[in-house]
Amino acid sequence: MVIFMAKILITDPVHEECIHILRKAGFIVDTAYGVSQEELIKVIGDYDALIVRGRTKVTKEVLAAAANLKVVGRAGVGLDNIDVEEARKRGVEVVYTPQASTIAVAELTIGLMLSLLRKLPYADRNLKNGRWEKPRLHGFELKGKTVGIVGFGRIGRAVAKRVLAFEARVIAYDVADIKALAQELGVEVVSSLEELLREADIVSIHVPLLPETRQLIDEKAIYTMKKGAYLINTSRGEVVDTKALLKALKEGHLAGAALDVFEHEPPAEDWEWELVKHPNVVVTPHIGAQTAEAQRAAAIQVAESIIKALSHRM
Ligand code: NAD
Repeated sequence: MVIFMAKILITDPVHEECIHILRKAGFIVDTAYGVSQEELIKVIGDYDALIVRGRTKVTKEVLAAAANLKVVGRAGVGLDNIDVEEARKRGVEVVYTPQASTIAVAELTIGLMLSLLRKLPYADRNLKNGRWEKPRLHGFELKGKTVGIVGFGRIGRAVAKRVLAFEARVIAYDVADIKALAQELGVEVVSSLEELLREADIVSIHVPLLPETRQLIDEKAIYTMKKGAYLINTSRGEVVDTKALLKALKEGHLAGAALDVFEHEPPAEDWEWELVKHPNVVVTPHIGAQTAEAQRAAAIQVAESIIKALSHRM
């Protein structure tokens, strides 16, 4: 059967279950973790399917060189590293695993929220360095605070559910009609981003990176937030104007920020490092989906979607 000859290239590390399922189904699977764009363009012509996570950029140039490509699989959520429009034009299907990382990102967001409110990373660092700074470590409780969720999709809703368990008030803003979903959870819908920013003590961002969401949280938005509020971004770095964020933190307008995602990953510019090292900033190196459960689920889902897509096309 021709399907046995199909070749699949994986260019970012995925859970081994993915390779196992694909090989068991009879596919030839090659891995080239960390391959450069130039190398990828040279070799992609040999493959029927490509599996990536967030690192590999599936650009126009890559797609133009991919004469045999039928499907691109993204193990994860967020398709901003794939030129989906160009893929569609070339008849290349794009599949991804939207549900796999929802809980992992939501739980990280809660961890970041509590880390900010109780200054946990600061307390840990200082005690390990021999400093018992109890008097300086006064924090806040989540109970009774207003948490604003921007983007009430899978992750936004999962964060809302967990925040509600802390007896906080949750308000949400989305461009889609979220009234019914919000009502079901006990979340209040606000009619504009501005209203959410004005009301929330903690703002958590959960929108995809799209042309309309690039720098959605710009300087004006940051200064619309309450003085002393906190900002959490586990979506994409480009959604927040991080230079303006640094300014607002230095001026004391915001009490703190927690970031899992950055414009450059790893941060490249001096001002990005200044932000990362700011005492009121808690950072993690894009680990939102990095749990055993999420990685395994993404690997299985992407493998199954690739098999389905190829079996339709071979
Ligand atoms: P989703 O598609 O379920 O939800 C996104 C929501 O944002 C939708 O309800 C959509 O209507 C809304 N939205 C779009 N544009 C908006 C705008 N301008 N203003 C307000 N709302 C807007 O996606 P999801 O599964 O919840 O994931 C959200 C994002 O989280 C992903 O696109 C990805 O970028 C990011 N993510 C990060 C990690 C990580 O490792 N940190 C992991 C997974 C996902």
